[in-house]
Amino acid sequence: MIPLWKRSLSFLIIFFLISLIRAEEFPYSMEKQTLQIQLYPSRSTALIESKIKLSSIEPVRELRFLLNKNVREISVKKSGESLKFQFLRDTDLNFFLSEKDSAYKNEYNLAGELIISPQTPFKDGEIEIAYLLSASDSVDKAAFSREYIAYEVKAYIGEKGVFMSPAYFWYPALPNELLHFDVTVVTPDTLQMLTQGKLMREEILGDRRYTRWLSDYPADGLHLVGSRYMVGKTVSGEVDIYTYFFPESQDLSDSYLQASQRYVKMYEDLIGPYPFSKFAVVENFFPTGYGMPSYTLLGSQVIRLPFIIHTSLGHEITHNWWGNSVYVKYETGNWCEGLTTYYADHYYKEMKNPAEAADYRRDLNRDFTVYVKDHKDFPLNSFTERTESASRAIGYGKSAMVFHQLRQIVGDSLFYEIFRDFYRNYKFKEAGWPDIELSAEKTFKSDLTWFFDQWINRKGGPRLTLVSAQEENGSLWFTLRQEQNDLYRLLVPVEIVYRDSSSEIREVWLENSEQQYNFVLTEDPVHLIIDPNYDVFRTLSLSEIPPSLAEMYAQENALVVLPDNCSASRLEMYRRFAEIFSEGETNLTIESAADLSMRELKTGSLYLLGTPVENSLIRQIDWQEQDEWQLKENTIVLNEQPVPQPDEVVVLAGRTANENQNACIIAVGGNGKTGRIATLLSHYGKYSYLVFENGKNIIKDIYSVRKNPMMAEF
Ligand SMILES: [Zn+2]
Repeated sequence: MIPLWKRSLSFLIIFFLISLIRAEEFPYSMEKQTLQIQLYPSRSTALIESKIKLSSIEPVRELRFLLNKNVREISVKKSGESLKFQFLRDTDLNFFLSEKDSAYKNEYNLAGELIISPQTPFKDGEIEIAYLLSASDSVDKAAFSREYIAYEVKAYIGEKGVFMSPAYFWYPALPNELLHFDVTVVTPDTLQMLTQGKLMREEILGDRRYTRWLSDYPADGLHLVGSRYMVGKTVSGEVDIYTYFFPESQDLSDSYLQASQRYVKMYEDLIGPYPFSKFAVVENFFPTGYGMPSYTLLGSQVIRLPFIIHTSLGHEITHNWWGNSVYVKYETGNWCEGLTTYYADHYYKEMKNPAEAADYRRDLNRDFTVYVKDHKDFPLNSFTERTESASRAIGYGKSAMVFHQLRQIVGDSLFYEIFRDFYRNYKFKEAGWPDIELSAEKTFKSDLTWFFDQWINRKGGPRLTLVSAQEENGSLWFTLRQEQNDLYRLLVPVEIVYRDSSSEIREVWLENSEQQYNFVLTEDPVHLIIDPNYDVFRTLSLSEIPPSLAEMYAQENALVVLPDNCSASRLEMYRRFAEIFSEGETNLTIESAADLSMRELKTGSLYLLGTPVENSLIRQIDWQEQDEWQLKENTIVLNEQPVPQPDEVVVLAGRTANENQNACIIAVGGNGKTGRIATLLSHYGKYSYLVFENGKNIIKDIYSVRKNPMMAEF
């Protein structure tokens, strides 16, 4: 599970239990679990009755299940007769987890082990298990850091609502099991309950509400959620589309319903039929951005963010194909975040225009370059979930770029055919990178071992340089080099720009460490640009990427520096800003400029609060120059305008002459209007400079590249 809603626009995650490879095949399997759940919010308790349909190849003397270690009043029956059992609250789970899997053991730290001994060896039939379970994780603590998940709610039953995650082991489970669920929840009539599947019953009898959801496909886990919702509904073909929003959010319901309807239709055309009978957008009473099969669970603040409907909602809906119906076989790496990013976030940019898609790919390469320091790198076959910016840059960013490069090689129509085939073959089954390779080779009718091997099994990425380029009498010669040790085989687009501003793109294969190419041209070129649209996954040189806030965030240590020359009230305003900005960020320290000198500051990021008059460090820094802004005496001039104006806040990211250091000015205008900027800044990582007016963003942009090392001029 990978919530991060502060940093990124595509923050939604797919919720899963790490699937484990079992030491051996299990002697028995679950086909279906029927759950009858009585919820008592005032006591934070549920009475749960689970009927499990089991079958085994050989008769077995013992049945074991994982179940929350704090369950009480357990009873076990078969056909109405009580069975003997023991319940181990402390267990090493050796029966379930091989030694090799012990790395995942902390995923299981809430699980006890229920061991049932039938009178006669068990072959098949139904086992009934009943128990009481309490759930009262604190939902107030559920805040996200910019980088790390500090705390994660696993289960809550209370006045605010209900949230039960499979990680709480609230129903009897086996690791890595795919099964059908039939869930009936009985609650006070004020609670609306929802889980995956189709709504089969909704009825109020007395003061109790009965809700039944049936999932008619094998699922790998079950979340149960509920609160005091109002329900909105529409349809897309055969699919029911719902919003479960709080009464105060009803104004958002229509736009979410319509957008969901559009997305479902779009992806049915692109991939194949939507795999479930419903899709619901559910508002949560604590901050989340989760995606489960057939619904998404978004915190109240999140659904109000204006960009969610255009980016994250679609990303989430796409997960119903990638991850929530074609399941991820984690042993070979999680491919679903990269594919979803490619089919959602990147696809929306392409639909807008090709330039935005190119910028998006440049940012993916940039994020990998700045976030993935050597000790944080790993190959895609080891990605399970994002934990911070580096693993995101690999598991989402690099992975999406791998799909993009596959598309460059096979072409658009075969690319989409590959994944229609993949979906047809693996719907409601687990699949890994090797299965994607299989679908790709089958459709492309060619061996792609080299491609998947270099991108999936290897960490890092190529770094390209344009060594030389000359043009003479219509003949263009240029040399490309791969700087890294392990060589890649790359399809590299090359743009030739002519005197009349027309241009063409040709492609070359690069597989040696250095290769020379020759183009015969009929017109005189003025420019040659290697990989102008960032179609190749590669690490970038700093001169290709202008400084950005993302680069600031990527530094492992950072100081937030308070001004040393301003009034007490201004200082207090900056201090408040610094505290909110640093909240939950363990790598940020707040200092005063009065206590620091540039001579002592060698590495890391500096967030310099104040105008150049207020913060003396701003003038001491040896800034690398940008075209967009300059320090003129004690004034910042941004695009020819002095900033900040009285109602403005200006944010300027930069690099210092010292290679290992980034610095950023955050200057507040005379009226001190900072609004919620300290909280919102993390959403603007891709930008070099920002201007806010009365707390609202009015300018966001990236500095121009002064000299592109991948370009030659003639
Ligand atoms: Zn995702």
